[in-house]
Amino acid sequence: MATEPIVVNAIINGEAVAAEKQYPRENPTKPSEIVGYGPVNTKEDAIRAIDAAAAAFPAWAATPLEERIARMRSAIAKVKEATPEFVTLLSREHGKAKYDAEGEMFVSLAWMEYACDVAADVLKDKVEEREDGRTIITRDPMGVVSAITPWNYPISLSSIKIAPALVAGNTMVLKPSPFAPLTVTKMVELMAKEFPAGVLNIVHGDADVGVELTSNPKVAKIAFTGGTRTATHIMKAAADTIKNMTLELGGNDAAVLLEDFDVNDERAMRRLVISNFLTGGQICMIAKRVYVHRSIYDKFVEKYIEAANKWIRLGDPFNPQVTVGPVNNQPQVKHVQRLVDDAKSRGAQVIPLGQILDPEVFEEGYFLQPTLVLGAGYNDPIVVEEQFGPTVPVLPFDDDDHAVALVNDSIYGLTSSVWGETEHAIRVARRIEAGTTMINTAAVQGLDVRFPFGGVKQSGIGREYGAEGVTSYTETHVINIPKVGELPNIPE
Ligand code: NAD
Repeated sequence: MATEPIVVNAIINGEAVAAEKQYPRENPTKPSEIVGYGPVNTKEDAIRAIDAAAAAFPAWAATPLEERIARMRSAIAKVKEATPEFVTLLSREHGKAKYDAEGEMFVSLAWMEYACDVAADVLKDKVEEREDGRTIITRDPMGVVSAITPWNYPISLSSIKIAPALVAGNTMVLKPSPFAPLTVTKMVELMAKEFPAGVLNIVHGDADVGVELTSNPKVAKIAFTGGTRTATHIMKAAADTIKNMTLELGGNDAAVLLEDFDVNDERAMRRLVISNFLTGGQICMIAKRVYVHRSIYDKFVEKYIEAANKWIRLGDPFNPQVTVGPVNNQPQVKHVQRLVDDAKSRGAQVIPLGQILDPEVFEEGYFLQPTLVLGAGYNDPIVVEEQFGPTVPVLPFDDDDHAVALVNDSIYGLTSSVWGETEHAIRVARRIEAGTTMINTAAVQGLDVRFPFGGVKQSGIGREYGAEGVTSYTETHVINIPKVGELPNIPE
């Protein structure tokens, strides 16, 4: 599906701003093909975008909540209309299979609509009339929000920030990842037209532009999704001006298969395979290490390989039979390959999984054959580091205490899953350190935009989704009107 490369620009104060230089984004399925070009923005462009957002803030913050929601709803309608075009572009620039890109658009729209619904309630003033006075609690916007997003889910992880931040009365400068910059810029271009100039801006770049977005004194809040190491730089950059921040970071999510998990349940086994390999494993909340009770371990491995070989079908993302496309970029291929090679060198058994449907495409693109890693040590890099790609280690455990200790022995705590008899699984789930624990499913299959999502430990700070994903873009402001505004023990 080769078409002319598209060119996207920065959008600053409602205007498309062409840059002197552009950078290419290749198609990871066919790297010789350029899907489009993004602008090489500078620190000065970032400052202009922040200034525009700061100038737009007072009037937007003063706009009634109902009007802010109404404008967001028309922006959502525009994105909905453009969905088929966005799905194609997203698949081409990212490498994710078409059904997967459709899923990303679906969740993004569902969340933005939910954010509007919930905002109408949670952002209203709360007024308490009492005998001893009256208290009004308002949810005030914070100001300029810098939103910085990764490449793996560029639409979801931008819309998760845009909708709540704007309906709450903030303005925004968004910076997408250079590894998937095109579709999200098209989306912002459409949405920005529904708001006053300067309310929604987008600039491109990497750490250089990122540093400005996270240190500029006019920025009130940072909404960041990306790697834990990058977040350490961001926290330092933001420290001088004490910025509010929501950080959605890396994960090394565990799946625990209890002794009462039925290894012959083909649907459950398929759900587990999907939890490991959807989007080629490039999801923060994918199950990245699998712990299996020793009593079912051998049978489990046999049935898992069967299910994985059926479900994982590699090739062209536009082939309707394909479930897994290429890895998004070369550095990520190298990172995953390094972990798998390291596991091999330590004596682990590496079992290739899946069927290659389009061998030519597989050879040309940034593909990696998915693998199951058996016999790794509990502390080997393949187990303790985030792979963020198509490989997964499986390790045995002896009892619930052992499983819980293994899961919690991690710097991360994003999501997790427990599989087996429901009440037993819930008992184990309660002991796991994570933001979300799913029972008998995992990863995006158990995601629900109505409930808060985020990590503990080094997986992040704060929550997105749910009512909390809206109120996190506000400051609680108490206006207190006591009947008698004096303390009784203060002398006349
Ligand atoms: P990354 O941290 O390399 O980059 C994320 C974004 O930060 C990009 O836009 C990048 O340009 C920007 N950036 C880089 N250096 C910066 C700096 N010094 N200051 C400001 N911005 C800077 O992450 P990635 O490789 O794009 O994404 C993969 C990571 O994201 C994985 O660790 C994954 O687990 C995580 N992730 C987390 C969630 C979640 O919800 N918790 C969701 C998706 C991805």
